Amino acid sequence: MGKKYLFTPGPTEVPPSVLAACAEPIIHHRTLEFEQIFAEVNEGLQYVFETSNPVLTFAASGTGAMESAVANLLSAGDEALCVQGGKFGERWTELCNAYGVKATPLDVEWGKAVEPSLIEKQLKDNPALKAVFVTLSETSTGVRSDLEAIGKIVAKTPAALVVDAVSGLGATRCRTDAWHLDVVVAGSQKALMLPPGLAMVSVSDKAWALVEKSTLPKYYFDWKKAKSNLDKKTTPFTPAVSLIVALRESLRLIREETLDAALARQARMAEACRAGLEAIGIELYSQSPVEGVTVGKVPEGIKGGDFVKRLWSDFGIKVAGGQAQLKGKIFRIATMGSLDCLDIPLVISAVEMTLHRMGYPVELGKGVAAAEKVLAQPVQ
Ligand code: PMP
Repeated sequence: MGKKYLFTPGPTEVPPSVLAACAEPIIHHRTLEFEQIFAEVNEGLQYVFETSNPVLTFAASGTGAMESAVANLLSAGDEALCVQGGKFGERWTELCNAYGVKATPLDVEWGKAVEPSLIEKQLKDNPALKAVFVTLSETSTGVRSDLEAIGKIVAKTPAALVVDAVSGLGATRCRTDAWHLDVVVAGSQKALMLPPGLAMVSVSDKAWALVEKSTLPKYYFDWKKAKSNLDKKTTPFTPAVSLIVALRESLRLIREETLDAALARQARMAEACRAGLEAIGIELYSQSPVEGVTVGKVPEGIKGGDFVKRLWSDFGIKVAGGQAQLKGKIFRIATMGSLDCLDIPLVISAVEMTLHRMGYPVELGKGVAAAEKVLAQPVQ
């Protein structure tokens, strides 16, 4: 089979220079050379996180850093609010339950963003809440939360605001400091354009105060240990050296393009993708669409699982299907990381042709034209 294209919301395509960095000869981590690389990586992460807070890096998938947030901020019996309107929001509740934290789930209809005033009400009704767990980009539904508004609300209370930005960071705006986001969790395999295996977490002063009081068990993911080592430009345990070296390169690419330009590019791609799908009659699932992942409803009469499989077998295009109750009902196209504008007409073209082959009435080229109309606008 010919070319293959990764349009999944993680892992995403890794640019050639980042792949080359992964393949560099391994260096030892207790060296000045590694310390310099790690310091550069930390500065680059602060740039993308838009924070002056320290950003801790762990060899783990994103969930590892999410788990570390619960274990480092809270104590058994503490109360926390978990906003859940998708698979990943639910993960916060599951993690709290695993650690004996009393989670109050705030259920949001899937496909919709949480109404910030509901969080305000919960905080008012229950001043014991120590943390509010939210998701910036809910990858299972393509929904973006209004963190600026939520941040303003939580900042007025003693609670810490903890954000899963695993698929959001670098794909959609995440102003950690300006929006009062106390803890922001990211992962390497999304808009940061790396293979899976690294997780990062930024921690504010307000969050560090909670860390001081936390008594939940932790060892590998102990933030205090990670921070005291970070101050010495290193890590407490053997880091994923090759991924750190590669992260330096992917952060260099983001800096070269500039974060603003990268976010604007990804916003254009997402807009073009939405326009392309809508033009061929595909309904969008998310009512607050996030930039990094566009979610379409599988049209009537088409089996979602088969559609996703045929995109792969017929055209080498990998998109994601739906999870949990959305299995077979939606498909998810990533518009993040190193994907570029011309990748969007390509994926829309494959969607059109696959639906056509499956017997769904599509005016071939209509979606591509709609995507092109967005992308043909001059870049501001
Ligand atoms: N949160 C979100 C929003 C995600 O998209 C993902 C990965 N799909 C995760 C958490 C979990 O990350 P990982 O699979 O790297 O543990």
